[in-house]
Amino acid sequence: MISFDTHIHTYPFSQDAHQSLRDVVGKNAASRYGFVITEHMDYNYVGKMNFEFQPEEYFKQYSPYRNDHFLLGVEMGLQPDNFAKIAKALAAYPFDMVIGSVHTVGGDIAHKEYYDKLTKTEAYTNYLVRILECLEGFHDFDTLGHIDYICRYSPFDDPELHVSEHKAALVAIFNFLIDHNMCLEINTRRLDTQVGFDTLNEIMRLYAFLGGRLVTVGSDAHKVENLSKNFDKAEKIIAEHGFTPVYFKERKRIEL
Ligand SMILES: [Zn+2]
Ligand SMILES: [Zn+2]
Repeated sequence: MISFDTHIHTYPFSQDAHQSLRDVVGKNAASRYGFVITEHMDYNYVGKMNFEFQPEEYFKQYSPYRNDHFLLGVEMGLQPDNFAKIAKALAAYPFDMVIGSVHTVGGDIAHKEYYDKLTKTEAYTNYLVRILECLEGFHDFDTLGHIDYICRYSPFDDPELHVSEHKAALVAIFNFLIDHNMCLEINTRRLDTQVGFDTLNEIMRLYAFLGGRLVTVGSDAHKVENLSKNFDKAEKIIAEHGFTPVYFKERKRIEL
């Protein structure tokens, strides 16, 4: 059974979020799920938005609300040129949990310019190869975020990430996670459509086949109505493949 929503953004620490600490604390009090706040920290990100925050300020403002049901983490945006900055921040601040996510491959893959001049195969292969490069360069984090992220923004007629077309890259990524005792996130954002569910379920099937057992479950909510959304669908994926949902407190894995 899922006990925590482990991927949540709040404003102003995540500039693209539309929910405040007060909103989320209120929802947490009434929720059956514990929450881990995971603000964006994309060092060296180039673009209009600034996805960096000041950890001192974050801990100063949010620590009074921290308890066993409400934890303080971070979503680190992985780029080959920012691993030293991430390592320094993780050594300096007491995050409970760290998601590692790839949001950029050169450009931001949420922007359509990324896909200019690329075929779908190239765009998706580059994305998966970048994930693997990042893992090999830096892996002091707890769970790999939203592997189906590219499907959210892809401009192609069929935006889905098909295991059959990218099996070798996915196998390499999952073997790395399994060998290093890391987790794979079930990001529930796309699970409300059948096609989104089928895509992630196929990906998770491969992870399970390779021996993957540990998962974290996160809504990636930027607004209150999305907190812990589609967790019933995530429970189906967990039950089908026999995964163990976990969360992290003080960087220690908790299984229940
Ligand atoms: Zn993300
Ligand atoms: Zn996120």
